[in-house]
Amino acid sequence: MVLRDALDQALAELSAAGVRSARRDSELLLLHILGVERPLLFAHPEHQLTEAQAADYRRLVARRIAAEPIQYITGEREFYGLRFTVTPDVLIPRPETEHLVEAALERISEDSPFRIADVGTGSGAIAVSLAVARPLATITALDISRAALIVAESNAATHEVADRIEFREADLLAGIADHSFDMVVSNPPYIAEVEVREYEPAGALFAGSTGLEIYRRLIPQAARVLRPGGWLLMEMGVGQQLQLRQLLEGWQEISVLPDLQGIARVVIARAPVA
Ligand code: GLN
Repeated sequence: MVLRDALDQALAELSAAGVRSARRDSELLLLHILGVERPLLFAHPEHQLTEAQAADYRRLVARRIAAEPIQYITGEREFYGLRFTVTPDVLIPRPETEHLVEAALERISEDSPFRIADVGTGSGAIAVSLAVARPLATITALDISRAALIVAESNAATHEVADRIEFREADLLAGIADHSFDMVVSNPPYIAEVEVREYEPAGALFAGSTGLEIYRRLIPQAARVLRPGGWLLMEMGVGQQLQLRQLLEGWQEISVLPDLQGIARVVIARAPVA
């Protein structure tokens, strides 16, 4: 089968199955099989696929039709301009989390050392993005999932920041010394357990019956490990702003940033000075 026919067939199947990004997905999956960049796909529409390639392609298209996220099928996801490896052991980085990275970068000095903890690092998207953008920063990336840490470590190695990120298997900030960080960042699980989600790791998504359980534990722990005046930045879920402000009682300079849809998405606060 030639490339163009394979693409057309996949596109028709994905569209018929109601996959919204059918065209893009049909291309991404074929690029993934061939290991080439996009322009090549269209430069050589008559290119002949091997039997094995055609069979692999059909298999991947079938997985996508079964609603598996495209990022788990190709094993990668772009975040903050960097390419990250993702596996079903980690949450797929979301574009709204880039707001958290931006807000953190605005507060990290460029010309002096800066100590950051990334709680629940998952794929390492936040930790690696910060390390790449701030060469003097050192980061402790924590996760309760050993499998996730392996993915994060490989992403740090890919982007050549592994020497400035310490990976640590821990429940939130357990075992971290008092007042040892200038900043704590986190995209914690914040989905209420009543919601139904397939595919991604439950431990990365769900936080008790209200979605606030992790914040309840994380905020006091962050207060302990931050230096006075240190920054806490957390991603939050839809409608959690008021409760989070309550949980941050005693913290200073509390502010909230919206995502591109106008949803309050990042909460920022400074640890009490006294
Ligand atoms: N934003 C993600 C979602 O709605 C959840 C991420 C999280 O729980 N931290 O799927």
